[in-house]
Amino acid sequence: MIEEKERIAALVPGYELGARLGRGAFGLVLAGRHRELHRDVAIKILFVGQEGDTEPNKGEARLLASLDHPHIVRVYDAVTAEDLHLIVMEMLAGGTLARRQQDLTAEASCAVGLATATALSVAHARGVLHRDIKPANILFDADNLLKVTDFGIAKMAEGTATTASGVMGTPRYMAPEQFLVGQLGPATDLYALGVMLYELLSGEPPFLAPNPFALAQQHVTAVPPPLTGVDESLAAVVMRALAKDPADRPASAHAFALELARAATETYGPGWAGGTGIRLRLDDDIRAIVERPAMVAPVVPAPVTSAPRAQAPTPNDELPTQQSDLPWFVSTDRAVDGIPRVQLPGKASAWSRRRQRAIHARPMGTPFRHTHGVHSAAFSSDGRMLASASHDTVWLWSIFNPASALNSFTVRPSRVCSVAFSSDGRMLASASHDKTVLLWKRTGLALSSPLAGHAGEVCSVVFAPDGRTLASGGTDAKVRLWDVSSWNTPGPLGDPLAGHTGAVSSVVFASDGGILASGSEDTTVRLWRVNRTSAERRQER
Ligand code: ADP
Ligand code: MG
Repeated sequence: MIEEKERIAALVPGYELGARLGRGAFGLVLAGRHRELHRDVAIKILFVGQEGDTEPNKGEARLLASLDHPHIVRVYDAVTAEDLHLIVMEMLAGGTLARRQQDLTAEASCAVGLATATALSVAHARGVLHRDIKPANILFDADNLLKVTDFGIAKMAEGTATTASGVMGTPRYMAPEQFLVGQLGPATDLYALGVMLYELLSGEPPFLAPNPFALAQQHVTAVPPPLTGVDESLAAVVMRALAKDPADRPASAHAFALELARAATETYGPGWAGGTGIRLRLDDDIRAIVERPAMVAPVVPAPVTSAPRAQAPTPNDELPTQQSDLPWFVSTDRAVDGIPRVQLPGKASAWSRRRQRAIHARPMGTPFRHTHGVHSAAFSSDGRMLASASHDTVWLWSIFNPASALNSFTVRPSRVCSVAFSSDGRMLASASHDKTVLLWKRTGLALSSPLAGHAGEVCSVVFAPDGRTLASGGTDAKVRLWDVSSWNTPGPLGDPLAGHTGAVSSVVFASDGGILASGSEDTTVRLWRVNRTSAERRQER
C-alpha cells in the first residue's frame, strides 16, 4: 500500500495525500489537500487492471467533470496511468446517506428523493446515466448539502479487470433491465431511486433475497410488497418508479421530482422540507410546489398487478439488532400479508427486517450449457460470475445470462479438472490434466507460464482468502502451495505437503485462510495449518 501511495502521489503532485476515507466496489478513496489552494479533496482510485484492459474513456471523464450542479459532486481532475485511474473530487465531510439512513424521518427521505432526482435530471439531460444510485453514493458536504457521487463510475469500470462481469451496479438497487443486460436509460436510474426511497421510507428494501442471483430474479419477476407506513399518494409515486417495464415508470427524473414534491406537500403540508436539516437546491417549479400551499394535482396511482409474490414471508421472530435496548411495539394494524411488523417508537418508518425461515430451492432459469462434461464450477466472491471447467476450456459467465458466456479460454490440449476464482475476483486458476496450474485474467489473458511441480494430473485448485496464496492437489498425492502475490511471477511456496497416499481431489481453505483441508482418494481428509509468513521464510532460506 505504501508503494501504491507513492505512485498515486506522483500522479497528483499538486496534492498532499491524507487518510483513507473508504473502500468501495471499484477502488478506494483517499483524502487529499491541494498544496497551493489548501482545498480539501477526495481522491477516488479505480484499479483498472493491467495491460490488455481497456482504459476508461477520456471523453467520458470529461463529460463527468462537466456536470455542474449543487447536488452533484464536483470533479476537479482525472488522471489515468497504466492500471490506475484517479478522480479528484470535492471532499464531502458530511458522510454518506448509508450512514444516516436509519435515523431519517419520512420528510427527510422525501428531501433526499427530490435532491437526487434533481441531480439525475441534470445528468440525464447531458446523456449521462448514473447506473449505481444507492445510499452509499449519496453524500453530504460539511453544510449538509446533498451530493450525488459516482456518476457513471460503474460504466467507467466496465470491461476492466475489476468488473468485467458485464452487469454493473449494486443488485439491491438494480432495475430489471440491468440484470437482463437490456437497454438502459433514465428510467433505470429512477428504478434505483425508487428502491432507495422505498428502503428509506419503510426501513427495508422491497427485495431482500440473500444472494444476487435470487435478488435478480425478484427484481425481474416479483411484485414488490406494498409500501406501508407512509401516505398512499407518496407510496404510489415510489411504487411507480419500481415498475418492471421502464415505460411504466415516470417519464423523466424531473417528472418524478414533480410527482414526489406534490405527494409530499399533500402529505406534510407546505414548507415541509424546511425542517429536515437537508439543504436543497431545487428547480423553480419543484421548489414552488414544496414551499407554496398550491392546488395539489392528483397523483397517478401505481398500476396494480395481481402476479403472485415470489416468496411468502414467514413471521418475524428477530428484532433488529441495532437499538435493541429500546422498547419495541408490535403494530398489527400495519401488518402486511398477515405479518405483524415491529415498530420503533417515534420512528414511523423503522420496520424490522424480514427473515426467511424456510428454504425454497428451485431451478433458476435455463442451465448454462456446455458441449462436454463439466468437471468443476466456481462462483466469484461477489456472486455475479460463474466459472466452469469443461473438457479443455474454462468458461466465464455472468450468472444472470446463461445464454452466452462472457468469455472462454482454452487450455488445449489438456483437460481442465478444476477452476477457482481469487477472492477479489480478478484472477482465475485452472488445474489441468497436464500436471500444471494456469493463472488467468478474466479477459482470458494467461498471466504467467504454467505452474509446474506436480508429478501427476492436478485435480483441484483453490485460492486462499488472502488472494496471495494458491493451493493445488494432484494425483501425485501431494498438496502444493503457490505464491501468487505477483501476477507475473508466481512460484512454488515451500515443499509439497506429503501425507496422502492417493490422489488429492479436493482442496479448500477455511474462511480466515489459516487452515487448508485436502480430501483424497486415500479415504482421508487432512488439515494443514498454513502460516504464510513462515512459509515465506522457509522459501527464502
Ligand atoms: P461505494 O462502492 O460504497 O460507492 P466508493 O469507492 O464510492 O464506494 O466510496 C467509498 C467510501 O469513500 C464511501 O463510502 C465514502 O465514505 C468515502 N467517499 C467517497 N467519496 C467521497 C468524497 N467525495 N468525500 C468524502 N468521502 C468520500
Ligand atoms: Mg461510491
